[in-house]
Amino acid sequence: MTAGKHVVVVGGGVLGVSTATHLQRDGVAVTLVTEGELADGASGRSLSWLNSAGTRSAAYHALRMAGIDRYRTLFAEDPTREWLRFDGGLHWSLDEDAMRARHRAEVAHAYDSKLVAPAEIPGLDPVAVPEVAVHNPGEGWVSLPHLIEHLAAEFTALGGEIVTGAGRASVTTAGGVATGVTTTGGQRFEADTVVVACGAATPSVVAELGVSIPDASPLSMLVLTEPAETGVKTVLNTPRVALRPNPGGTFALDHHWYEDRITEVADGTCSIDESVVKELAAEASALLDGGVTLTAASWKLGRKPIPGDGEPVFGELSAVPRCFVAFTHSGATLGLIAGELLAGEIRTGEPHPMLAPFRPDRFRP
Ligand SMILES: Cc1cc2nc3c(=O)[nH]c(=O)nc-3n(C[C@H](O)[C@H](O)[C@H](O)COP(=O)(O)OP(=O)(O)OC[C@H]3O[C@@H](n4cnc5c(N)ncnc54)[C@H](O)[C@@H]3O)c2cc1C
Repeated sequence: MTAGKHVVVVGGGVLGVSTATHLQRDGVAVTLVTEGELADGASGRSLSWLNSAGTRSAAYHALRMAGIDRYRTLFAEDPTREWLRFDGGLHWSLDEDAMRARHRAEVAHAYDSKLVAPAEIPGLDPVAVPEVAVHNPGEGWVSLPHLIEHLAAEFTALGGEIVTGAGRASVTTAGGVATGVTTTGGQRFEADTVVVACGAATPSVVAELGVSIPDASPLSMLVLTEPAETGVKTVLNTPRVALRPNPGGTFALDHHWYEDRITEVADGTCSIDESVVKELAAEASALLDGGVTLTAASWKLGRKPIPGDGEPVFGELSAVPRCFVAFTHSGATLGLIAGELLAGEIRTGEPHPMLAPFRPDRFRP
């Protein structure tokens, strides 16, 4: 079934690299074409908290749990990896009723969720945290640039080809069926199947084919800190800052309260006043025990891919056969499972039932 099949995957983020690697593992020849470098989009500036916390549809929850399962398998393969950890997550909110409701909803579908005193979690300053929070011991985090490097090494060892710096790619068609891509760099790649995994640019890439996928991708920022000695291993989701450990004893920080203070110009370049970066680092420092101060070392800005209805978009475009899309919020949590299931669909031609609620066709008029 795979003999002679050639797939072009567009996009060097976690969804593109994961789909390409799963295809190549299954014996399908793949060329991965990306505009700039690998991990130069959202995957290079993601909090990448591995979770299915809060409330969502049963189908989305099941897919996310399968996503976490694949990360656990990868973790078990080598638990010493500094870039993939399962040390739990801690969430608290200013609205205690809402937080307790979230906990009850999590318990109702057997998500591991406990009410704890945050002061019991190592590394937190007892006077800076509330009396109660939700602890999710089964959660984890991944550094996506490291994961992408890991997958890309396997992909190329299996014979996959990576074309970076290709410029912007557009899908080509013949008789309405996808036939490959052309790039603004002047290259042309023929393919039996094309996968568009362009992060927040996915709606604009498929718009060229006359396909509409609503986009709600907001501007976002991820801050990486200098190394700091703290006892914090858990991912923290708090009212003013989200924090996770990061390789090298550093931390990754983000939130959304400053989104409207990010400005974007026509070429997609973004900027933010440095005072906001310092304020975010100060919010994180205020939570830590022992007077530890976190200092921002670097920060990255750009769109966080989110489909218009908030749900993942995975699968073949019925309007353009042989063109698949992968566009989702929570692409860190879904990165491995989405790549695996899409690769299976492309290889066998059989739709996977767990992706059925997330088809791009739901937006067709
Ligand atoms: C601040 C932030 C926090 C997040 N937190 C979490 C979290 O806690 N948990 C979670 O699960 N997820 C989280 N996410 C979401 C997750 O990181 C993303 O969903 C995921 O990284 C998206 O991967 P992707 O491969 O779809 O897109 P990207 O990583 O954006 O990659 C797309 C790639 O396509 C390339 N490209 C674009 N257009 C073209 C074109 N026309 N031709 C060629 N190449 C093109 C880009 O250059 C880029 O390399 C967060 C994201 C952000 C930004």
